Amino acid sequence: MNTNVDVVIAGGGIGGLVTALCLHKAGFSVQIYEASQILKPLGVGIGMRSHGTKFLYELGLAEDLDKLGIRARATQYYSKNGQFIHEELRGLEAGYNWPEYLVHRGDLQLLLCKHVLEKVGKSSVVLGHKLIGFESFAEHVEVKFLDRSSNEIVKKSAKLLIGADGISSTVRTILYPDEGPPVWSGVAMWCGVQRVDKLFLDGRTTLLMGNLNRRLVVYPINENSICWFCHVRIDGPGVKLHKTADWNTIGRVEDILPLFEEMKTDFLDISNMIRTTEKVWEFPVTDRNPLPKWTHNRVTLLGDAAHAMYPIGGNGAAQAIFPIIREVRPAFPMEDTVTIGYNVADAQALVQCFQRYGPTVEALEEYDNIRRGIATSIVNSNRQGGPQQVLKIVDEHSPNGFKDIRDIISKEEVDAIIRKYNRLAGFDLNTLNNEPNVFPNDENKKEYTRDDKQKES
Ligand SMILES: Cc1cc2nc3c(=O)[nH]c(=O)nc-3n(C[C@H](O)[C@H](O)[C@H](O)COP(=O)(O)OP(=O)(O)OC[C@H]3O[C@@H](n4cnc5c(N)ncnc54)[C@H](O)[C@@H]3O)c2cc1C
Repeated sequence: MNTNVDVVIAGGGIGGLVTALCLHKAGFSVQIYEASQILKPLGVGIGMRSHGTKFLYELGLAEDLDKLGIRARATQYYSKNGQFIHEELRGLEAGYNWPEYLVHRGDLQLLLCKHVLEKVGKSSVVLGHKLIGFESFAEHVEVKFLDRSSNEIVKKSAKLLIGADGISSTVRTILYPDEGPPVWSGVAMWCGVQRVDKLFLDGRTTLLMGNLNRRLVVYPINENSICWFCHVRIDGPGVKLHKTADWNTIGRVEDILPLFEEMKTDFLDISNMIRTTEKVWEFPVTDRNPLPKWTHNRVTLLGDAAHAMYPIGGNGAAQAIFPIIREVRPAFPMEDTVTIGYNVADAQALVQCFQRYGPTVEALEEYDNIRRGIATSIVNSNRQGGPQQVLKIVDEHSPNGFKDIRDIISKEEVDAIIRKYNRLAGFDLNTLNNEPNVFPNDENKKEYTRDDKQKES
């Protein structure tokens, strides 16, 4: 059968769009089918850590990212009583060669879509097409979509199908019909974006406050907006989901305001921020149990569809955008999932590997072998709190506050927790800075170096 595209991607979220951009850049033809009829800037904020930025820069987004978001400088950890625990430098300030960005999630999605339309082609993103089924044949996969404007079923063929259709993935449900809904952590999250005249602290810092049962995260997403997330444990992990994991559910300020009234800082009026936010959303913090396999013949999963994880460590989006070609590389020994980190020193080999295998089942199998174990480790680590274990330790040892944080936890212990997570999640400083580019001969690439950093300051 003649198929006119190599890869059909179901889902035009951050994972699907970046995958389209990089596959196109590597010379493969791609087509995205997105269920929504209009792409609107939905969501709140998202952190794009340096490993994600590195790749987005290679894809030509450097200048646009600078215009869109905020270059993060640091994350500050505070106890629930507002006592300072630790400052973790981020991006260039931490020594990475690439910044970390804090952006509005919807703005990032629209920016990526603009790049896909410009580079891959005007017809490369088909909106209003919801994947409802597929069938693999010897040489191709036939994918069925519901065209939501005509209500007709449309069939498309490709060599491969990538399910990048998010946490409630239809592709995943078809592959694992008995799995059920996402797994609820027992934590509910309220979030919103507040317009401000002035950003708090230096305008490039994330505030992380509380403990693993009640936690506040606030960060700037552009020059005049900050976004906030209030996490509240209301049940134990693994209980049946009380609400669907839908980012469009409206939340009520009254439900959370009393719970966060005692959290105070001298640089941000937290109660006022929550009270004056125009729209508040509520979302149950969910993830997915790791799967025994992502690739099934000509079909695979990517991003949240494959490994939805708790929003901890500023990692969800960056994990999704680790592109498929970068994940296809010769297997390396998994000695210990924590120490292995994300060694992408062989990124160039990955591209060659994909080019060697072509858009084939072998390529998808290799992707599954390499990537699934690492993603599973991150999902599991996030269930334990990831780097936010620091908050847990401090809270358990000093529920009523402390005189000196060093009586509770040493700087070395904090650094070790954060470093361990960074290695696991693929942003170990030295490893990342020394990795070759995925597209090493690209003349258009723009990299920010220490010199840029000095110029900025
Ligand atoms: C509306 C929305 C708002 C979000 N807001 C935030 C936020 O504020 N902060 C945060 O940290 N994370 C947010 N997330 C999650 C975050 O975007 C992801 O965790 C991360 O970016 C991984 O992206 P992904 O592409 O794998 O999944 P997603 O970003 O979820 O994208 C999946 C895409 O697939 C589409 N889709 C679903 N089913 C089908 C189907 N059957 N056929 C075709 N297309 C389909 C969806 O419409 C969506 O566009 C949000 C997700 C969504 C969908």
